[in-house]
Amino acid sequence: MAQGPHRLPTDTDNGLLLIISGPSGAGKTTITRGVERSIADSVFSVSCTTRAKTDADTEGVDYHFIDDATFEAMKSRGEFFETAGVYGKKYGTPKAPVLEHLRRGRLVILEIDVQGAVQIKQHVPDAFAIFILPPTEEELLRRLRDRKRESTEQITKRFNAAKAEIESAKASGVYNVFIVNDAIDAAIKRACDLVQGERTRRAGK
Ligand code: 5GP
Repeated sequence: MAQGPHRLPTDTDNGLLLIISGPSGAGKTTITRGVERSIADSVFSVSCTTRAKTDADTEGVDYHFIDDATFEAMKSRGEFFETAGVYGKKYGTPKAPVLEHLRRGRLVILEIDVQGAVQIKQHVPDAFAIFILPPTEEELLRRLRDRKRESTEQITKRFNAAKAEIESAKASGVYNVFIVNDAIDAAIKRACDLVQGERTRRAGK
């Protein structure tokens, strides 16, 4: 961890790579941002994507929106920690900022899908991975509809993809814990408690 002459006063030896995954509509983004707000030294890793920016997105905050050629050039230079294809679009976690924040002992949060989590766990086996589950399938469908972000056809596609993602998450063996999001504040608190508990446990080793 952080050592030597470049150590900053804010550096710690308590860095943790946190993966948060879950299907669309499970509340993953709200929980991720809740954890980021609640834990002082946390940093959200801003992914690159080739998908179109929506009105809900802010460039540089939610994603770096880039074109396919830029994505492929970055990939060929080895600048991604992991990459994945989701709904025909490309997503990738930039490697350098994640490694720098971890070196400084921070909590680095990756909001990525199961394909990405599997790759990260291969590089960083002690990453802590949380998967967010909706309370029921009916509730998931209701939430996807309530977002009013997509057409009925797209909602059905996301619903089926969500069910498949839950199955592959369970089969992957990479998740340390599954959190059922039936009440958002309780789910954020549970995620924070688990993360802080994990850091305390590791620091005591
Ligand atoms: P959305 O387009 O709805 O923001 O994200 C679609 C899916 O891609 C979500 O499951 C999200 O967690 C995942 N995702 C976002 N960024 C990355 C990334 O950098 N890598 C991977 N593997 N998945 C990502």
